[in-house]
Amino acid sequence: MCKVSDIRLQPLLLSLSDEYCSTAIVSTMGEHTLLNAAIAEAKLGLSESGIPIGSVLADSSGRIIARGHNLRVQTGDPTAHAEVVCIRNAGRRTDWHKLVLVSTLSPCIMCTGTSLLYKIPRVIIGENHTFRGAEDLFVAHGVQLINLNDSECIELMRAFIQARPHLWNEDIGIPEE
Ligand SMILES: [Zn+2]
Repeated sequence: MCKVSDIRLQPLLLSLSDEYCSTAIVSTMGEHTLLNAAIAEAKLGLSESGIPIGSVLADSSGRIIARGHNLRVQTGDPTAHAEVVCIRNAGRRTDWHKLVLVSTLSPCIMCTGTSLLYKIPRVIIGENHTFRGAEDLFVAHGVQLINLNDSECIELMRAFIQARPHLWNEDIGIPEE
């Protein structure tokens, strides 16, 4: 029996069926390993004077098949959010339904939509304290959403939003006064 946290039940644990667990090979330890890879991407973005959000895609065995970080500032592309960049970097595939998307932050509605389009069944997020995206959409579509409530992810975004509030508001589509 494996257990995952669910946004509706945090910090309670939600038991899954054994049938599902047999395919959910990425373990709890693997979740943190994958999140650390996403955090490394976020820090890479920060080092490029970008927004510190990172993402990875992994297969069911926990092998990372694509990485990405927010490139909106670096490239001037408003859609270059970390999750979208990561999905782009994964290229053409037919196995999206077997992948797990990992992001340092709760995905916005654009990134959620992209993930839902390709039927990625499992999404691991670092946190949703500093920003809560379209999590209700994930839940409505039966996506397994796991929030690791990671203090490093929270601090990365907290410090960034405090230092660059206008840049952050631009990222999530909040108009200037
Ligand atoms: Zn996004």
